[in-house]
Amino acid sequence: MITMKFGGTSVGDAGRLREITEIIRAGYGKRLVVVASAMSGVTDLLLSTARAALRNEAVKVREAVETLSQKHSQIAMELVSRPESRDRLFGYYARLLKDLDIIYQGVALLEELSPRSLDAIASFGERLSCAQIAAVFEDAGIAAEYVDTRELIRTDANYGQAAVDFAVTRANIQKALTPLVEKNIVPVATGFIAATKDGITTTLGRSGSDYTAAIVGAALGSEEIWIWTDVDGIMTADPRYVRGARHLEEISYREAAEMSYFGAKVIHPKTMLPAIENNIPIRIKNTFNPSHPGTLISGKTRGVSGAVKNVTSIDDLALVAVEGHGMMGVPGVAARIFTALARVGVNVMMISQASSEHNVCLVVPGKDRQCAVDALQKEFAADIGGKIIDGVRLREGVAIIAVVGEGMQGVPGIAGKTLTAAARENVSIIAVAQGSSELNISLVVDQGDVRRAVQAIHDAFI
Ligand code: ADP
Ligand code: ASP
Ligand code: MG
Repeated sequence: MITMKFGGTSVGDAGRLREITEIIRAGYGKRLVVVASAMSGVTDLLLSTARAALRNEAVKVREAVETLSQKHSQIAMELVSRPESRDRLFGYYARLLKDLDIIYQGVALLEELSPRSLDAIASFGERLSCAQIAAVFEDAGIAAEYVDTRELIRTDANYGQAAVDFAVTRANIQKALTPLVEKNIVPVATGFIAATKDGITTTLGRSGSDYTAAIVGAALGSEEIWIWTDVDGIMTADPRYVRGARHLEEISYREAAEMSYFGAKVIHPKTMLPAIENNIPIRIKNTFNPSHPGTLISGKTRGVSGAVKNVTSIDDLALVAVEGHGMMGVPGVAARIFTALARVGVNVMMISQASSEHNVCLVVPGKDRQCAVDALQKEFAADIGGKIIDGVRLREGVAIIAVVGEGMQGVPGIAGKTLTAAARENVSIIAVAQGSSELNISLVVDQGDVRRAVQAIHDAFI
């Protein structure tokens, strides 16, 4: 069995849908399971329209619902030829879009847009798209069935980034999907969306359909999980920003997790977790170039030439520093910092502490900067009053660059080469961190320097 996930661009227009239909046809009979995303741009449109509804911009809302209707109807007109299937699909679109419109009106009337509402709104993208894909497959003679994963994937109520209850989820997936696969029916399951035990819609985080594919693939014991996207596989850097980025034939789970955590958008960082646990290889493949072997992600790592496999970056971050000579030797400062930030739900992306112990600096998402500063100021108010801590300093507009590769272990000079490359471009380094796993070196630089620095570091190694 192979679980195949198709991303937004792979289901983004009629041409792509024809292509993926051929991909499924070629594998038909080999027990395939499909997980798919919303059509490209749809999730962004759904969410930005929610914010427009909150501002009571009725025209924008109407236009957006109309756009969604047209985008999907056009595909149905082109690719679903049987009148009864087409009518059924149109009926489904109409019901969904009516519900969506009512939710937007609710947001406008209540003047309230909670994370819970945002998840409910975002879920429409995958529901529209997957019902459509199943109908297109059926029309092409491939037995398929639309599956709404809100009925299968159970999560907590952490909207926008919900955590999966694997025991319940696994049993649900096996019970619902195994009979379909046995009968040679291709399940077309919604990526990204799930629900709490009370049936309230949640999402697994932006770009979470990759993760859904791994959850489904692992639950069913798939031999492989294939992530179909719009590039030939994982490259040594984001090809949109870096000249000379090279294709990688193979990388390890740990490398893939590390580079995606540090901003390589090609795969969601959580995807590797279910795959590692069940030792299932993941393949990244290109729907625009299906015969290309892509990139294999597995437990093995093969020493390719050079120790560094990837240079990546995350933009729009902030650096928060807790400083003071009085901190030296005071136990528990780091623990208090983390506890205070965890309490307000701020994710710490990187930390760095010099041995003088009078400065601990943390990198947090830019949107959370004020929340982080407030939480730390509150936590350390007494210490600031007592001059043990000077204060909490904020530096906005920074980015992290990460240099990733398992081959870096025990190889001297990687950090030196990284810093020299940045220095040659006149980029000043604000902070540096390297985990003892020696899988990555991370640098904090000013946002304005990040592209130049990534290119220079990439050129130095690859
Ligand atoms: P999908 O909609 O299929 O999930 P995404 O846009 O989420 O596609 O991911 C694919 C994109 O990831 C590519 O178009 C590419 O621009 C970007 N990307 C970023 N870093 C890398 C990398 N190291 N290798 C390949 N692609 C990358
Ligand atoms: N459609 C969702 C998003 O845009 C999930 C995904 O594409 O993986 O974030
Ligand atoms: Mg993606």
